Amino acid sequence: MTRVCDSFAYGDGPVGACFWNETVDAAPYAALAEDVSADVAIVGGGYTGLSAALHLAKADRDVVLLDEQQPGWGASGRNGGFCCLGGSHMEPAMLARRIGQAEAEAYFRAERDAILLVEQLLSSHAINADRHSNGETVLAHRKRDFHTLEKKAQEVSDLYGVSPDLLSKNDLRNQGMGGAFHGGLTIPVGFALNPKKYALGLARAAQEAGAHIHGRTPVSAISGQTGQYRLQTPRGAVKARQVIIATNGYGRETVPEWIGGRFMPAQSSVIVTRPLSFEEQQAQGWTSGQMAYDTRSLLHYFRLMPDGRFLFGMRGGLRTTRAADQDMRRLIRLDFNRMFPAWRGIDTPYYWSGFVCFARDLTPFAGPVPGQDGMFAGFAYHGNGVAMASYCGALLAEQALGRRDLRHPKAITTPPGRFPGGRFRRLALWPAYLAYAMRDL
Ligand SMILES: Cc1cc2nc3c(=O)[nH]c(=O)nc-3n(C[C@H](O)[C@H](O)[C@H](O)COP(=O)(O)OP(=O)(O)OC[C@H]3O[C@@H](n4cnc5c(N)ncnc54)[C@H](O)[C@@H]3O)c2cc1C
Repeated sequence: MTRVCDSFAYGDGPVGACFWNETVDAAPYAALAEDVSADVAIVGGGYTGLSAALHLAKADRDVVLLDEQQPGWGASGRNGGFCCLGGSHMEPAMLARRIGQAEAEAYFRAERDAILLVEQLLSSHAINADRHSNGETVLAHRKRDFHTLEKKAQEVSDLYGVSPDLLSKNDLRNQGMGGAFHGGLTIPVGFALNPKKYALGLARAAQEAGAHIHGRTPVSAISGQTGQYRLQTPRGAVKARQVIIATNGYGRETVPEWIGGRFMPAQSSVIVTRPLSFEEQQAQGWTSGQMAYDTRSLLHYFRLMPDGRFLFGMRGGLRTTRAADQDMRRLIRLDFNRMFPAWRGIDTPYYWSGFVCFARDLTPFAGPVPGQDGMFAGFAYHGNGVAMASYCGALLAEQALGRRDLRHPKAITTPPGRFPGGRFRRLALWPAYLAYAMRDL
C-alpha cells in the first residue's frame, strides 16, 4: 500500500461530474512507451510540475514530465479557480516568531509575486482562462467576525502593501453580494479563472517550449542517486540527472521514500449550478462576479462565473470512499441551500471533490530533497495552490538551474517534518475538524 486514502480517491469517480471537463477539448498526452534520458524528469503534471517544466524548457533543459493520469487531472484541473493570496496555513505573527520578521515578510511578498507570475504566464502564453473578479472578498459569517476583519484589514495592508476595503452589510448589498453576511473585506489582489484551461494552457506552453509530456504514466519507483536517477514506469524508464517531485496530495508514500509521511491529503468539494438568469441572481441579491469566501475555518468559497453559473465550494470530509463522496454531495448542497435560500430549487448538475495538501509545518515546500543531490520536491499549498503551486514550480526550476532570480523565502525552502501516525496520519483530521466545526458555530 503506497497511498494513504481509499483507492476511489485516486480514480475518476470523484471528478466524473466536474464542470471544467466540459469547458476544454484537449487530446490526451500519450504514455511513455520506451526508455529515455533527460536532463530533468518531473513527476506530476499539475501547476507545480507544469510550471517547472515550462521554466526549465525555456532555459533549454531537456525535460520529461510524467503524469499518472493526464496533466491537469489532479487538483490543478478541478479547483475553484481562485488565483489569490495564500499558501500557508499559519498566522503571520506565528510565522514571524518561527522564522523571524524579515523572512516572514519575504514569504508574504512571495504570495503576491505568485499572483503576478500567473498573470504573466497567462498573457505571455496567450492562455484564455475566462478571467474575472477584482481581488477577493472575505465575508463575515457572524457579527463578531466583522471585528476580526477590521483587524485583518490592517494586517493585509502591512503584509502586502495594498489597501483593502472594509464593507458594511449595506455596502455588500449595494455591490451585489447580498445574503446572511455581517460585512466583508475586499482585498484588491488576485482574480478568478477556469483552472483547467489554465492547466492545459501551461501544458501546451511547456510542450511548445520543448518539454516532453506523457499522460497515463505512473512512476512506481525512483532509484539511483546524484546525476543518475532512474524513474520506473510500466512501459519504459527515464534516466535523468535531476528529478522534480510535484505530486502534492496525490503522492505515493514511496515516490520517493523521503516524502512518506510528510504530506497530508485533505478534501475540498465543489458544486456548480446551471446558468442563473439575472432575475434569479437578483432574487438572491447576488449579482456580483467577485470571488468570495466566508470566515469559517472549514470555509465556503463561491463565485458567480461569467456564464451565469454559480460555483460553491467547501473544505472538509474525513473519509474518501464512494459512499462518503456521495454524503459530501448532499452536505455541500445543504450548506448551499442554507446560505443561498432563494436558489434552493436551482439544479446543481456538477459536483466533484479532490485533494488539497497540508504540511506539518503549515507552510508550502519547494526545495531540495535532503540527502538526494539533484532531487527536488514541491507540495503543500494548504488549499491555495493556483498561484502558489505555479510559483513553487518556477522556484524548483530555478533551483535545478542553480539560479535565484525569484524570491526563495526560508518559509518555502525549509523541508517539512513528518506527521505522526505514518499512513494513518489522516486520523488526526477527525479531532481537528471537530474543533474547527465547534469554532465555526
Ligand atoms: C476541490 C478543490 C478546490 C480548490 N480550490 C482552490 C482555489 O480556488 N484556489 C487555489 O489557489 N487552490 C485551490 N485548490 C488547491 C489547488 O488546486 C492545488 O494546491 C494545486 O492545484 C496543486 O497543484 P500541484 O501541481 O502541486 O498538484 P496536483 O494538481 O494535484 O497534481 C499532482 C499530479 O501528480 C500526479 N501524480 C501523483 N503521483 C504520481 C506518480 N507516482 N506518477 C506520475 N504522476 C503522479 C497526479 O496524477 C496529479 O495530476 C483546490 C483544490 C481542490 C481539490
